[in-house]
Amino acid sequence: MKKIKTMGLIIITLLFLIVTVNAKTYDSLDLQITYENEMELKGAKEGLEKVKLFFTEMGYKIDPSLKVKILFIERVCILFNKTPIRVHTSYDPKTLLIEITQWSQQKLLNEKGLFNITPISIELYHSLIVHEITHAILHSLQPKAKSINHEYIAYIVQIYTMGEGTRKVILNEYKSITAFENCNEYAYSMFYDLSPFGFAIAAYLQYLDTDELFRKIVKGEIE
Ligand SMILES: [Zn+2]
Repeated sequence: MKKIKTMGLIIITLLFLIVTVNAKTYDSLDLQITYENEMELKGAKEGLEKVKLFFTEMGYKIDPSLKVKILFIERVCILFNKTPIRVHTSYDPKTLLIEITQWSQQKLLNEKGLFNITPISIELYHSLIVHEITHAILHSLQPKAKSINHEYIAYIVQIYTMGEGTRKVILNEYKSITAFENCNEYAYSMFYDLSPFGFAIAAYLQYLDTDELFRKIVKGEIE
């Protein structure tokens, strides 16, 4: 019995080593990452700077003790109706952990698409990282924000901070979408369910007109 247990332990350890053999880690004051490709590390470091700059330029003060944790892994799954489904990325507000599908898994990324653009460029991939980091920063500024409001803000920061060329392509892809106008939360959560990327564009265009809703969400006036 003991022998079987020992064998089991050895097998588990070997499996763990195989899974983590390519994983590298980076640890600084405000960022902790497990990654595979240097480009992922670059995206995370630059992404965090971009998101911090975006919020500080709007006058927000980010908690200096906040440490963003990101795992670049092969499979990112979330539960949908109790069934795990693969997604590009996830952010867990309970563990504050961001999971992002590794760049080497581009096939999956491209199958699912991003703003209807394929293949997904490095710049678009980096914007995904920005989106997830925004969730972490928003959570620290306003822990009560509802998930639909999280998406509203994460998409705005994602689109606002991406390169102009990529943004033009995306806006052109969704040129029929116009800015949200005095919309209530119910209307925009319906829109999100129908078209998350359409929702993203409408949110971004509204932000260019007015940052009123953005600020209300961060203030906690809209939870
Ligand atoms: Zn999101």
